[in-house]
Amino acid sequence: MDSSHIISRRKFVQSASLLAAGLAMPGALQSETLASAQQPPLAEVDYGDVTITSELHKQQLDQTHSVLMGLSDDSLLKPFRQMIGQPAPGDDLGGWYHYDPNYDWHTFGAGFAPACTFGQWVSALARKYAINPDPQTRDKVLRLNRLYATTIAGDFYVNNRFPAYCYDKLVCGLIDSHKFVGDPDAYRILDHTTDVALPQLPGRAIEHGKPWRAGKDESYTWDESYTNAENLFLAYQRGAGERYRTLGKQYLADFYYAPLAEGKNAMAGRHAYSHVNSLCSAMQAYMTLGSEMHLRAAKNGFDILAAQSFATGGWGPDELLRPSDSDEVNDSLSNSHSSFETPCGAYAHFKLTRYLLRVTRDPRYGDSMERLMYNTILGAKPLQPDGKTFYYADFNFQAKKVYRDVTWPCCSGTMPQVAADYGINSYFRDPRGVYINLYIPSTLRWTQDGAEFSLTQKGAYPFESLVQFELIASRPSEFVLNFRIPFWAEGAAISINGKRMSEPVSHGSFAPVRRQWKSGDQIELDLPLAKRLEPIDAKHPKTVALLSGPLVLFPITDSQPLVTREQLLAAKKIGQQNWSVDTAKGAIRMLPFTAIQDEQYSTYMITGT
Ligand SMILES: [Zn+2]
Repeated sequence: MDSSHIISRRKFVQSASLLAAGLAMPGALQSETLASAQQPPLAEVDYGDVTITSELHKQQLDQTHSVLMGLSDDSLLKPFRQMIGQPAPGDDLGGWYHYDPNYDWHTFGAGFAPACTFGQWVSALARKYAINPDPQTRDKVLRLNRLYATTIAGDFYVNNRFPAYCYDKLVCGLIDSHKFVGDPDAYRILDHTTDVALPQLPGRAIEHGKPWRAGKDESYTWDESYTNAENLFLAYQRGAGERYRTLGKQYLADFYYAPLAEGKNAMAGRHAYSHVNSLCSAMQAYMTLGSEMHLRAAKNGFDILAAQSFATGGWGPDELLRPSDSDEVNDSLSNSHSSFETPCGAYAHFKLTRYLLRVTRDPRYGDSMERLMYNTILGAKPLQPDGKTFYYADFNFQAKKVYRDVTWPCCSGTMPQVAADYGINSYFRDPRGVYINLYIPSTLRWTQDGAEFSLTQKGAYPFESLVQFELIASRPSEFVLNFRIPFWAEGAAISINGKRMSEPVSHGSFAPVRRQWKSGDQIELDLPLAKRLEPIDAKHPKTVALLSGPLVLFPITDSQPLVTREQLLAAKKIGQQNWSVDTAKGAIRMLPFTAIQDEQYSTYMITGT
């Protein structure tokens, strides 16, 4: 045991006694000490424990689900059947899902990634069933798994540009089918898939862009085997068998994690989404094998990513991670419209920050989730039944929201999974109570010490500063509700049954409230939405985004307006989701990302003196 542990144990004893006294304790102390006291990770809640009532979140879930339910089974199976020479009736979905043996990779057009999203769609359907168990969704999952099982053959992987990617998504779909739909055949189909896929996979994590199959063109080097470990470890944890733990270890991308663990920016120049997704494999290596090196790699990777993120929380312009302290992200505001691969990036980001939050209890991972959610994915254009998909969020000075030109890209696979996960991102559990991470109108149900509880949150946050909660309890009980107080929420306050708590509430902490809770208890959280300016980077302090709480306020403008810092900070709220900034040349309308339709907007402004 090193000295830092001794110190943290002592602090932990102090915090525990503060908790026992029912006091809110300073957040920095709490998160630091609880994390290093090596407590088990916070538990995820079950999908079915949370009902989301927020219109925006609900719409995205219902809308993606209805698109998936509307896809014909034959269309979904078509590329699997074609690639192994089976009869393949039914309509071709087209776009990236389409199989063309003579595909020209230079176009990135139709035929780029046949069947790649199938496993993600099965996963999203299974998660939706866990949220809202309707029999049609279950039937669809069971049917798709059985039809897929008749197509398992080596040629699918031989003819595939992305064998490890497809295998990874199929594993995810099958373990989710097992867990959330109770598909009794899921693990048998998984084992068969694994038996057939393994001889065609590289056997280890291979660098993006490195050839490993003879006689294949460059596009066959873009597979993502360095992301496979996460779902393999999850398969092991969910009882699919010891072989998946062994395989998970085998596919760990230590060439990437080892320098990250030493604090080196091993991310620079690498493909963005897949290498952030790969950090989830590092987190699973920590959670499954207890490997501290992998935890350090993921933590450092997150910090390197955060330092090169846009104010929106997005990252990786043109799908590349960047050197630290370079001008490249700033330059992308003028030279790129491909600022952030939104659905895939958000999916990886939410998983990574969920793991990090559970392990460290550090609220800044929750702050990061919230920021990314409101300023990117929640404002994505809806997935369409014909495969039109929102892909890049555009943070250019002259930006628009557009669909990707090709249908059914990778992001059509992750978007339904993101939409299903909002509930499990919002709440976490430990034996002493509940962590409230995201303030989304919703209800959490749980049992504790034999009693049943529900916590319902309401309000117009983050457009208004107040969040209201009501607790229902089958009997009074003592436990802790921990509220995430974002780093920007100076002057935050908590009131219980109309009485403001006298203890200070620290911003940048989880504020614990321990008491004897009873049915009908009302809690009100006030998170003052002070305005602030965030520069794109330290070298360009005049290029700023305006934020109100977690929201970036986007100027709706065709030209770069002349504006000062003072004018921006004096932005007035003129409607529920509508702000205005007065300048010498008139007023500029400012909207949150979720309220922008087809208007041209900017994300950053260059301020004068
Ligand atoms: Zn994507």
